[in-house]
Amino acid sequence: MKTAPEWAAAAAAQRPAGLAWIDGRPVPSSSGRTRPTVDPATGQVIAEVAECDERDVDLAVDAARRAFLSGSWSRQGPRDRAAVLSRLADLILANLDELALLDSRDGGKRIVDTTAIDIPGSAAILRWYAESLDKVYGEVAPTGPGDLATVTREPLGVIAAVVPWNYPLEMAIWKLAPALAVGNSVVLKPSEETPLSALRLGELATEAGLPDGVLSVVPGDGPVVGQALGRHTDVDAVTFTGSTQVGKLFQLYAGESNMKQVWLECGGKSAVVVLDDVTDLDAVAAGVTGGIFTNAGQVCSATSRLVVQRGVAEALTERLLARTAAITVGNPLDPATDMGPLVSIGQATQVRSLLTDGAAEAAALVGGELEPGAATECFVRPAVLVDVAPTARIAQTEVFGPVLVTHVVDTEEEAIAVANGTPYALAAGLWTDDLRRAHRVAAALRAGTVSVNCVDALDVSTPFGGFGLSGYGRDLSLHAMDKFTGLKTTWVHYG
Ligand code: NAD
Repeated sequence: MKTAPEWAAAAAAQRPAGLAWIDGRPVPSSSGRTRPTVDPATGQVIAEVAECDERDVDLAVDAARRAFLSGSWSRQGPRDRAAVLSRLADLILANLDELALLDSRDGGKRIVDTTAIDIPGSAAILRWYAESLDKVYGEVAPTGPGDLATVTREPLGVIAAVVPWNYPLEMAIWKLAPALAVGNSVVLKPSEETPLSALRLGELATEAGLPDGVLSVVPGDGPVVGQALGRHTDVDAVTFTGSTQVGKLFQLYAGESNMKQVWLECGGKSAVVVLDDVTDLDAVAAGVTGGIFTNAGQVCSATSRLVVQRGVAEALTERLLARTAAITVGNPLDPATDMGPLVSIGQATQVRSLLTDGAAEAAALVGGELEPGAATECFVRPAVLVDVAPTARIAQTEVFGPVLVTHVVDTEEEAIAVANGTPYALAAGLWTDDLRRAHRVAAALRAGTVSVNCVDALDVSTPFGGFGLSGYGRDLSLHAMDKFTGLKTTWVHYG
């Protein structure tokens, strides 16, 4: 691992071009307009990025459709597609430091996370789908003699992938790896906060041998580029990760245009339940703080509510507050930093305003102030709001920052009711030493993923997504390939 000064030198030497990637080549936006993308840790502009609009979306979708119809990718043999995706995984690893630095600078993400998790994780996911795609079989229906009915999975066509800023490259890969694996073309719209690694990915995909037009990257404003994709009549499906509010808009866009399929991975207000039989409270405190403060709390599945049984509440809270106070907030390019900045001043302001409201509803607020002496106002100290009513606004609203609220409950039943008591249902955590309680409570928790005695369990082999206002459809696992295909029956009568 490089030292902080070495990363700073690498950052100073990095000059991203900021051009869109459409039909296999770098292009300026049709309007010629650009938008600066800013490093939240320094306030400096990293690059001027093409500010695309509807015309660029039309060009990208048109290129995607032409590529799809040409069969250059959609009808390529599975093993040939696998080879290209594997090469792309290799190229991501070959450019690991560059991509990690782009995501760390663009999003304020810790370099230790982007180098160890985001970028290698992205390559591993691509490779997993590359290795899986030629192991998926069709079916023969039991129709009877004289007829042969095959059921095959067909790529949908043109997929629009619209992603957020918290894991810029990795969220893009979650979408495009399964979508490309089954033969679709993809138009990727990165967040306006963090477009740089996605633009580099477009370039690397072409270098890996992906035919022109199969992957285009169109940066720009959400309400302009995102909406144009959502309303485009030649887009077959949208796969979206982002806020619930924007997720609902994609349903509207689809309903008002061509009824395209819409897959939504939206927000969360996930609970971690701690039952009163746990003995290793230090391990639980480490798990609970890890579950909320990783990536400065900007994680959709962050366990932002602690639901703790009274018997262990005081001892656990004491440990949590000590751990929270010890977190170092600072330069994300310094490998020793525990927590970097939030993605933007806007996000930091929003988090702090929710905290101010929340403080009135809590027995105590610890942390949450701006980090003294920090270079920008994006550095918010991790915060714990102690003993908040479960119905309080701060306990029901997704903060998407380093803010934990705690609720003290008396019984197991109350713990389940409070944990399930929001309109979201993305993830949940549970700590207990009792195997029977573990199964009983895990079964009762409403969430796409329940992590028992571990933190935010996740693997490419397990589906990820939620219920309720957290959205529907699943990323990762073989199920993600299902949603980018449609079933086709071919019936041959020969009797
Ligand atoms: P966001 O909803 O503001 O933006 C997500 C994407 O949608 C961006 O690319 C943005 O440009 C685009 N967009 C914004 N407004 C749009 C509009 N009117 N029409 C079309 N597109 C539009 O979300 P964000 O602030 O980038 O990310 C934070 C949110 O994402 C949080 O709510 C978080 O929970 C959620 N998230 C969910 C998951 C998950 O897998 N469930 C993962 C990461 C983040």
